[in-house]
Amino acid sequence: MPSRKFADGEVVMGRWPGSVLYYEVQVTSYDDVAHLYTVKYKDGTELALKESDIRSQSSFKHRKSQSSSSSPSRRSSSRSRSRSRSPGRPAKGRRRSASQSREHKDDKKKTIQETSLVLAVLVLLKASENNTKRYNGEPESTEKNDTSCIILEQKLKPDLEIKRVLEQYSLRSRKDDKKTEEIFSEKKTFVAVKPIEKVPSKTKELEFGGRIGTFMLIFLLPATVFYLLLMCKQDDPSLLNFPPLPALESLWEWRVFGIFLLWFLLQAVFHLLPIGKVVEGLPLSNGRKLQYRINGFYAFILTAAAIGVLLYFKFELHYLYDHFMQFAVSAAAFSLALSIYLYVRSLKAPEEELAPGGNSGYFIYDFFTGHELNPRIGSFDLKYFCELRPGLIGWVVINLAMLLAEMKIHNLSMPSLSMILVNSFQLLYVVDALWNEEAILTTMDITHDGFGFMLAFGDLVWVPFVYSLQAFYLVGHPTTITWPVAAAITVLNCVGYYVFRSANSQKNNFRRNPADPKLANLKFIPTATGKGLLVTGWWGFVRHPNYLGDIIMALAWSLPCGFNHILPYFYVIYFICLLVHREARDEHHCKQKYGLAWERYCQRVPYRIFPYIY
Ligand code: NDP
Repeated sequence: MPSRKFADGEVVMGRWPGSVLYYEVQVTSYDDVAHLYTVKYKDGTELALKESDIRSQSSFKHRKSQSSSSSPSRRSSSRSRSRSRSPGRPAKGRRRSASQSREHKDDKKKTIQETSLVLAVLVLLKASENNTKRYNGEPESTEKNDTSCIILEQKLKPDLEIKRVLEQYSLRSRKDDKKTEEIFSEKKTFVAVKPIEKVPSKTKELEFGGRIGTFMLIFLLPATVFYLLLMCKQDDPSLLNFPPLPALESLWEWRVFGIFLLWFLLQAVFHLLPIGKVVEGLPLSNGRKLQYRINGFYAFILTAAAIGVLLYFKFELHYLYDHFMQFAVSAAAFSLALSIYLYVRSLKAPEEELAPGGNSGYFIYDFFTGHELNPRIGSFDLKYFCELRPGLIGWVVINLAMLLAEMKIHNLSMPSLSMILVNSFQLLYVVDALWNEEAILTTMDITHDGFGFMLAFGDLVWVPFVYSLQAFYLVGHPTTITWPVAAAITVLNCVGYYVFRSANSQKNNFRRNPADPKLANLKFIPTATGKGLLVTGWWGFVRHPNYLGDIIMALAWSLPCGFNHILPYFYVIYFICLLVHREARDEHHCKQKYGLAWERYCQRVPYRIFPYIY
């Protein structure tokens, strides 16, 4: 292959995907494996382009002087007069009739789809208040009716591609064109364009403190779990009262590890059952969509039935409490083995299947953040399975075990009010997550992060063993709360849940169907990608209202443990740190995706999570 033609920092003209329009862009990097240039448009949008979609500025100036059509509006309006513009007609026939007409020779070369795309893109660009400089002429070579997304180009034949592009851009029929002005009014109607995904390239911006940070986290995370569990076992779990280290041999029991494996396999079997609908995830960088079976709620019901049967046959569930540390060690060992397996298999994964966030080329970093985006064994998606099943359902089972242990140890006929609150609040949270399982498909964990140590440990160890800390704490440190206090905490949890659920639903519904009549009263800012950013409703209140609701709930889960120790508040403190960091990561991604539109959104909605505070 010839070496690269354009240097980093060079200002050139880059074609906007799916159109014949060229905009001034700056080359930021070049991927010599994929032969793609990363370019930055003036509005901040970054895309990966092929060399053939990039022209030097000088070639444009030359053409511009020859062009008779000097303004893009003129160009588009002349097209708008052409009857060949309607995207409602079949492509081939239309192309032929256009060639038979007496239109200008240049126009004959253009397909109807190109014309429509030009209009659609113009509309979108105007709608997003994109201030990129528009080129008024055309590049020297004859344009093909393709997109700039190289992967799509490789995969699709021209006709199919035209169809896909038309579908992707939801182009309107001519009679609908009159309505296009509505697009600019931040009201409901707009051209829905799916995001243009970047072809995966090397991860350049390292998160979590880079190589050193991720190396330390691999040790720090397990150490924190064991520290918390050891502290919780102490009579006086004050921060300064450091727990004595247990004997190494007491941490491991094969029987416990066997039960853990059984649990994992049982959940895998439930997941594989052919019950529940199958849905598609978001498009990957190669345009493909993976399928996911949504049956987490059924798995929960089946698990509840299995636990019920065990209890009926007098199985002592508080065995979990008695061997809690050993279970945590088993889960940690398993997640480490799983992470190693994931990393090894990721080395053979094709480049396009690597995670946008975990492809740095540094072993430790990629091992931690996850190298492969969607590791699958057949149709069994390992990341998707681990995200919501063994750990999340395991958390509820652990909580129940703590409740039974409390009753047994303190000889109670009823669990304490505090324990009931903690169990019920967290049960609601887990059931909600499983009921709305489909929503996970649009989260960062699924779309951006690979499956590596971070998620494997997080899903299988951190969630079940740290999130159940309040219930674990209450077993050893009984806390009495009055009914009015319990009522106040319940109200707080309900408020948090309401904010969390309605914010998440509002965004999910808007992403799934922006034209949903239920969302008709909401306003949004259009973006160059075609996706809107809500600026009223919950997403106009703060930029992450769902995080706010989640944090309120986290507080409500800790309050039943009283104020004797800070330990049960670990969750809410850690969770604020996690969500503040996650919010920053998300903002960074959104800024890259939406450029100016995101900045405008930030101006309209200045607070990130806490109104008037942060
Ligand atoms: P979010 O659900 O907050 O989604 C962020 C994405 O929403 C952005 O990347 C953007 O994606 C889209 N978006 C941002 N602003 C707007 C807007 N104004 N209008 C429309 N879309 C917008 O991501 P998370 O995955 O972080 O969180 C999901 C849920 O999971 C939250 O409720 C969170 O609290 C919870 N959570 C819980 C954790 C736990 O351990 N318990 C851990 C992490 C999260 P795009 O534009 O591409 O659609």
